Amino acid sequence: MIICKRATDLSLLLEPLRKSGKKIGFVPTMGALHEGHLSLIREAQEESDTVVLSIFVNPTQFNESADLEKYPRPIEEDIRLLCREKVDFLYLPAVQDVYQYDSDRNFDGDLGYLDKVMEGAFRPGHFKGVAQVMHLLLDRIRPHLVFMGQKDFQQLAVVRRMMQMKGHQTTLVPCPTIREMNGLAMSSRNRLLPPEIREKASLIYHTLLYAKAMQHVMPIRELEQACMERLNEPPFHPEYFNIVESSTLREKEDWAEAESFIACTAVRAGAVRLIDNMPL
Ligand code: AMP
Repeated sequence: MIICKRATDLSLLLEPLRKSGKKIGFVPTMGALHEGHLSLIREAQEESDTVVLSIFVNPTQFNESADLEKYPRPIEEDIRLLCREKVDFLYLPAVQDVYQYDSDRNFDGDLGYLDKVMEGAFRPGHFKGVAQVMHLLLDRIRPHLVFMGQKDFQQLAVVRRMMQMKGHQTTLVPCPTIREMNGLAMSSRNRLLPPEIREKASLIYHTLLYAKAMQHVMPIRELEQACMERLNEPPFHPEYFNIVESSTLREKEDWAEAESFIACTAVRAGAVRLIDNMPL
């Protein structure tokens, strides 16, 4: 695996591959890699000739400085894993390589409704940070395909919108959520949970399954309320449980008003914030 700390070096290495017709697949991450990330790598390897993975803990998408500080960074472990998985290139930049000028930090587009609900409402500025870093990464790496997880369903919608706005030629490939044995969605933040809370956090998965089982049975708002109550079990504290139209993320009053719905939730477990979702 070739490790590049500078985007300019990476571009120089990718250019001849691109010219010779190789398909470049890209997996953006913040590191602390787990099976969820590995599933994206494997999908990228299936569908592309060369795989680039980035590890960059993007400061502009953190709305709480404590969250940024305690974000796990086991870089040596990650590199060993990536070598084992035979990833071709690791882009491992310092903050200055991604944001060369102060103006690089700001996203100049309007994410509209996507930035105002659920994660957008609870994490002000988060999606602008995501949109901007993804814009810069796609601009510099120019992959044919980018692989991202449905675990971050709203993020996928934001990146899709950003790519349309900025005219990126890359195809976005959504990949399914990988879960731990107890149903908890894999996440780098799971490492921060004490073992007994990590075990109990299957409550989130079971609540999503409950929502799936009760769709069309209960009115939408009542079902959301019932799920909030189920999640309100110490040490867990739900921030939201929303059932929205999958394609627009808009709330509907009645099940007949949309073809498909998705349940999305964010739950705090002490200082750790967990998100998950399930198509209904
Ligand atoms: P992160 O390192 O958390 O920013 O995640 C990097 C990529 O991995 C994003 O596209 C995530 O949606 C994806 N991802 C994170 N957790 C999972 C999971 N449990 N299953 C599938 N993809 C995931």
